[in-house]
Amino acid sequence: MKPIELYFHIPFCVRKCLYCDFLSFPGERRTIEAYMRALCTELEERADEYRESLVSSVFIGGGTPSVAEPGLVEELLKRVHTLFCVEDGAEITLEMNPGTADGESMKRYRRAGINRLSMGLQSAWDRELKRLGRIHTFGEFLECYAAAFSAGFDNISLDLMFGLPGQTQEDWRGTLKRVLALRPLPAHISAYSLIVEEGTPFYALQEQGKLSLPEEDCERQMYADTEKILGSAGFFRYEISNYAREGYECRHNCGYWQRRDYIGFGIGAASLFQNTRFRNGSDLQEYLRSPGALREAEEVLDKRAQMEEFMFLGLRMMRGVSGRVFRETFGEGLEAVYGDILSRNERDGLLYRREEPGDVFWALTVRGIDVSNYVMSQFLFG
Ligand code: SF4
Repeated sequence: MKPIELYFHIPFCVRKCLYCDFLSFPGERRTIEAYMRALCTELEERADEYRESLVSSVFIGGGTPSVAEPGLVEELLKRVHTLFCVEDGAEITLEMNPGTADGESMKRYRRAGINRLSMGLQSAWDRELKRLGRIHTFGEFLECYAAAFSAGFDNISLDLMFGLPGQTQEDWRGTLKRVLALRPLPAHISAYSLIVEEGTPFYALQEQGKLSLPEEDCERQMYADTEKILGSAGFFRYEISNYAREGYECRHNCGYWQRRDYIGFGIGAASLFQNTRFRNGSDLQEYLRSPGALREAEEVLDKRAQMEEFMFLGLRMMRGVSGRVFRETFGEGLEAVYGDILSRNERDGLLYRREEPGDVFWALTVRGIDVSNYVMSQFLFG
């Protein structure tokens, strides 16, 4: 059976953060319940198409999925197990925000089969959390984190953000140090730099010249500090923005970067299946009326498009792209297709070649990571 990943999008949040352009909005309890029922319906309607697949991971993301009653999440996961073959030990992640789950709901999520939590912390300083429009304090995060461990979660990932308005290098180091003082340590940390997206309150402030972001050099230094500080505590960078302790890389996200098939359920959710990309529409009311009927934007990827994706997604991972897998997938050698680009970037110190028994990998160098968009863009066929 071919492995497949499932993603469920739960678009509700207590309140919109000031930098957020995700498909998320506040929702009333009744709407959330109706939405969770609609997700189950969509799952039932579409499961047959993927009967030959083995589910290797499930990711319930958002939004803030933990605004949904644990019982609703449990119901959803029951359907997954009834309708799909799920691999033993499959990674099952729930995203949550501090302040949206107490000890009792943590226990219920655990009993429902969730075995990994991804918590949105963002910063360990209350002044920064406030500036971002987050709903929680660092103290509330600590309570949530302790409750998760007491409920039996030992695979917890934290989301952090740097390059925040008014943030100094020392502030960012402080956040990392506070996180590393946690006991037990988290298993995984995602650290992204803030991107000011159009349509957000931060964007409006920036337009008015009222958002004071760190200079580019300072932000680059924050990125370098991240690897150094997390590295000293046993976390290794396995993707441009993701760090894990040994054995705790996010299997679900690795699947995205390795172009494993995945199916998204819920509004706005994207899918890749047998080299076709599609996405659900984002109209909530329409979705509640007819879940499963909203699939939009099918794009059948030809061989060149698949090669492009193989390169720009695969290069995000620090181990790089495998020449052997490239040949097995496309029937052509990586160096035969991209030889000029590979050697030019190797000469420029942006990529390096690594030999392993039976395989050759190409990966970003430290300098290459700094200009990763530039490097990856070269693998697009004109
Ligand atoms: S909690 Fe996450 S999804 Fe919700 S508004 Fe904030 S950043 Fe967006």
